Amino acid sequence: MRTPVIAGNWKMNKGPAEAAELINELKPLVKEAKATVVVCVPAIDIPAAKKALKGSKIKLGAQNVHFKESGAFTGELSASMLKEAGVEYVIIGHSERRQYFAETDETVNLRVKAAVAGGLIPIICVGEKKEQREAGYTDALVAYQTLIALTGLTEDEIKKVIIAYEPVWAIGTGLTATDEQANETIGVIREAIRAKYGKRVSDRVRIQYGGSMNPKNVKGLMAQPQIDGGLIGGASLKAEDFAKVVHFE
Ligand code: PEP
Repeated sequence: MRTPVIAGNWKMNKGPAEAAELINELKPLVKEAKATVVVCVPAIDIPAAKKALKGSKIKLGAQNVHFKESGAFTGELSASMLKEAGVEYVIIGHSERRQYFAETDETVNLRVKAAVAGGLIPIICVGEKKEQREAGYTDALVAYQTLIALTGLTEDEIKKVIIAYEPVWAIGTGLTATDEQANETIGVIREAIRAKYGKRVSDRVRIQYGGSMNPKNVKGLMAQPQIDGGLIGGASLKAEDFAKVVHFE
């Protein structure tokens, strides 16, 4: 019922020329994809990526958006700027933004609202640190992060957002949540949405797993009923690997 969505998060990798190169390699490999495919490129790459993506079904994503429309916010980009440049999706609240750039649940919520108001689809990242999992806080934490992030959106708007469950201890570490752990925690997120907004909303929201997803583990993860796709870091930087993840066979 929910179309899977596989999104690459290139992080701070590749300039415009390399971005175009990678997209040109990727295009033929994912032509037949059943999943929605998104590449979230560095902001400087957006025009080159947009050009390279012409004629392809791959969607263009950014890695952050500011919550104001314009003004004295040096270094930031607004939703309307991204939209004008051809961006359709935007990652919000990635754990690296939370860890290194002081993002909080409240600023994540502001960014989510600005993205939705500006016609972008947010990919909202939530997830626990290792010590939080060990202390037994995972479920409460991801439910809280999710509900705060969605505050102020209408039910119709919530149906269109994408949540990425990314255990912080699994990002870029080669460690992956087990299929069951990922499925269970994503189930907790869906249940939190159901309890507040009802089943018609929670059944529609796509919830990805992220954290060292790669061609070897994608099949098991994607076989889980709660998992609707992946947010992929390292494995999105090589066309062949990313294409294997996209096809998850
Ligand atoms: C990410 O950056 O969102 C991510 C999941 O990275 P990796 O796949 O490298 O763990």
